[in-house]
Amino acid sequence: MTAEKPSFSAPKGTRDLLPPESWTFQRIARTGMDLFAQAGYAPVDTPLFEHTEVFERGVGATSEVVGKQMYTFIDKGDRSLTLRPELTASVMRAVLEHRLDRGPLPVKLACVGPMFRQERPQKGRYRQFWQIDVEAIGTDSPLADAEVIELATRFYAEIGLPVQMLLNSIGHPGPDCRGAYTQTLVTFLRSHEGRLAPEDVDRIDTNPMRTFDSKAETTIAVMKDAPVITDHLCGACAEHYASVKSLLDALEIVYTEDPRLVRGLDYYTRTAFEFLAGNLGSQSAAGGGGRYDGLAETLGGPHVPGIGFALGLDRILLSLGEAREVTPVRAYVVALGQGAEVEALKLATKLRRAGIGTELDLMVRSMKGQMKDASRSGARYAVILGDDELVAGEATIKDLESGEQERVGFDAIEGRVSE
Ligand code: AMP
Repeated sequence: MTAEKPSFSAPKGTRDLLPPESWTFQRIARTGMDLFAQAGYAPVDTPLFEHTEVFERGVGATSEVVGKQMYTFIDKGDRSLTLRPELTASVMRAVLEHRLDRGPLPVKLACVGPMFRQERPQKGRYRQFWQIDVEAIGTDSPLADAEVIELATRFYAEIGLPVQMLLNSIGHPGPDCRGAYTQTLVTFLRSHEGRLAPEDVDRIDTNPMRTFDSKAETTIAVMKDAPVITDHLCGACAEHYASVKSLLDALEIVYTEDPRLVRGLDYYTRTAFEFLAGNLGSQSAAGGGGRYDGLAETLGGPHVPGIGFALGLDRILLSLGEAREVTPVRAYVVALGQGAEVEALKLATKLRRAGIGTELDLMVRSMKGQMKDASRSGARYAVILGDDELVAGEATIKDLESGEQERVGFDAIEGRVSE
């Protein structure tokens, strides 16, 4: 028999999350959400698509994400909708729509979910990818910056992924701060235009700070001597940055100041940070975040400052390496003979109802086949029901780690396998 080729494959740049990787994914996501909940961050979910304008205005039309990567479509009602490329704009839209900003502040929210960007796929870069996201909305206190950054670093520590944190302040858009700096930077870039890569020359007028993110060797060489934002922060932004750093120091959080760190989304103000992990090739950013004190206003709301982060779960999984089955199955019921089948199903159900992870054979396998499947399941015990056992009202319990086995009465099974 020749194996038939499947007719379809997943769309380019997307991937299926299959076991065992899916187990690790679930564990990591749960670890994060539990950890954030412990600091008072409530779960939130927003639609996977929004009115396109939410991202155009929120994320910014000059950003690459909006300009080149959005999955935008017109629905049957002639509305322009976009699959969310990131979460912060959606969460802020929800906060403003439901007037959460007029309730108790800050609004502290966390979410796990898929994002969509039409990027060129490569290792660690997908068109549908998962983020775990945290937002503290309604405060510009440096305490919030420190709290949010501490949560992210503790999350990485808890899942066992070493990361390096880069930290910067990109000021605010006022003329005494990023406004004046941008002019200085533009003058610098113009005087070195001949050595910049063509796509970076185009950025001079649209988004000059993004030239720091260029992958082109020639631009990178030029940017080594470029003026940096931290030398041009206004008094208030400089003070805010100093406070954030001293709070992080008080928490003994290790960071590397990188005055060339800029972030890809236009809404960022003041604090910006990124987490780099190993094993990821050119896509080394395992997460990032920052302040977005002007975002609510660009969405038509009042002044509502905020800070948050988004960590890339696909890259975290890649960087962690080998995935592991972490099935909660503890017992595997082996049935020998037809009479035992229904008893096996009843016993498996009884154990599950008692909270004990249990599997049983659904393929009418031989004894040998069932024992093999029991080891595949990750169970610690095989609970064997044969004719002899059934007559005696007993089961044979085999410890799959030590190989020892013993017969126990039906009533003792539950206690024995939960030991
Ligand atoms: P950003 O929303 O661009 O700040 O991204 C935050 C994090 O999401 C990044 O540090 C990555 O870990 C992850 N990420 C962003 N884009 C992608 C992508 N196309 N594929 C996989 N992960 C991504």
